[in-house]
Amino acid sequence: MSKVLIIGCGGVANVAIRKCCQVSEVFTDICIASRTKEKCDKLAESLKGRTATRITTAKVDADRTEEVIALIKSYKPDLVMNIALPYQDLTIMDACLACGVNYLDTANYEPEDTDDPEWRKIYEKRCKEKGFSAYFDYSWQWAYRKKFEKAGLVALLGCGFDPGVTQAYCAYAKKHKFDKIDTIDILDCNGGDHGYAFATNFNPEVNLREVSAPGSYWQDGKWVEIPAMSIKREYDFDEVGKKDMYLLHHEEIESIAVNIPEAKRIRFFMTFGQSYLTHMKCLEDVGMLSTTPIMFEGREIVPIKFLKALLPDPATLGPRTHGKTNIGCIFTGEKDGKKRSYYIYNVCDHQECYREVGSQAISYTTGVPAMCGALMLLTGKWTKTGVHTVEEFDPDPFLEALFKYGLPYKESDNPELVD
Ligand code: NDP
Repeated sequence: MSKVLIIGCGGVANVAIRKCCQVSEVFTDICIASRTKEKCDKLAESLKGRTATRITTAKVDADRTEEVIALIKSYKPDLVMNIALPYQDLTIMDACLACGVNYLDTANYEPEDTDDPEWRKIYEKRCKEKGFSAYFDYSWQWAYRKKFEKAGLVALLGCGFDPGVTQAYCAYAKKHKFDKIDTIDILDCNGGDHGYAFATNFNPEVNLREVSAPGSYWQDGKWVEIPAMSIKREYDFDEVGKKDMYLLHHEEIESIAVNIPEAKRIRFFMTFGQSYLTHMKCLEDVGMLSTTPIMFEGREIVPIKFLKALLPDPATLGPRTHGKTNIGCIFTGEKDGKKRSYYIYNVCDHQECYREVGSQAISYTTGVPAMCGALMLLTGKWTKTGVHTVEEFDPDPFLEALFKYGLPYKESDNPELVD
């Protein structure tokens, strides 16, 4: 019997909400709130008569803490799920603290305006101190730890697939398969084809900012940064086949390095097709990925926002995307005095996701873990107060829930390693 406020109604939220509605005995009441209320109403309408969950909708601008506070006060949820954008993480966390409610999100904080001089000062200091230059990092949300602990509340950060399930895989490997983990390679393969020359599978702005940033990995206690897309490997993915993958900076490396400190090397690879890379490079070279406003015909526009308006909405890719995703982690280390390696991953079929919830597999593999993370908090399986990432909790009930609700894992004890 729980009331949940879900903020955001895009590609990922659509899946998370549909999956919550499959577990009505826990998610008895949901309020879908977003900037564009029409999208919430449309989703609520499509779920009418198909779930026992009672659904209401609301309009909220989550950039404004006071609006979120007013909504929480009137709806009185047990949990707020932030499935809007990383830009809203801090304002929603502030509202949760003010109202005494638990919090969950799927991506760590980054500012919308990267030219803000206040933010830039802190960012540049962090780049120098830590050694990576991505716009996002955990420091902003980890700064809330004491406040959440003191309030007896939980903030669960980054509960999608990667970040999210990949960290549960790390916790699982640590708990069941290794005494000591030496290396972790996170491999994210999308073997799907949507038929467009160029489109992103989740929010284009957030996606392109992430992918065009310099790559980096954790090695012997420090970050090693490399030019974007400069480390490439080929890997033969189960159920997908051979794909080129590139080393990226990714947020979970930062928290895994803290929570599995013995790991000497942690890397993240993502597959990209040549067409995607060529388009991205060209757009970057002409300035279309810039977040700095320019004047155009007498009005101010932000190039990357304009580009977002031109690109296909990721939420519409479902019917035309075919193929599979394969996302998981390869570990090397020791168990009972012997060296060993281990691979745990999920394979997800775009068209099967579409048939079940009307979305492609990227939204599905993010929305299902968000629902399962909420389930862990609402059913008292994960109770540790404070601000935490997924690998800090017991992975077993979470992986069990993922298995049950559509994201089973596969394992290999002798995987091909990445050099
Ligand atoms: P979309 O752009 O499809 O949806 C974002 C939603 O948030 C929209 O409904 C949008 O409203 C709403 N929104 C934006 N700003 C505000 C605001 N100020 N107040 C209220 N609502 C707002 O994004 P996705 O569904 O693709 O992604 C959602 C999140 O999931 C992102 O944070 C993304 O980084 C994360 N993600 C995480 C992954 C993981 O594995 N961990 C993988 C993929 C995504 P409107 O309709 O008005 O635009």
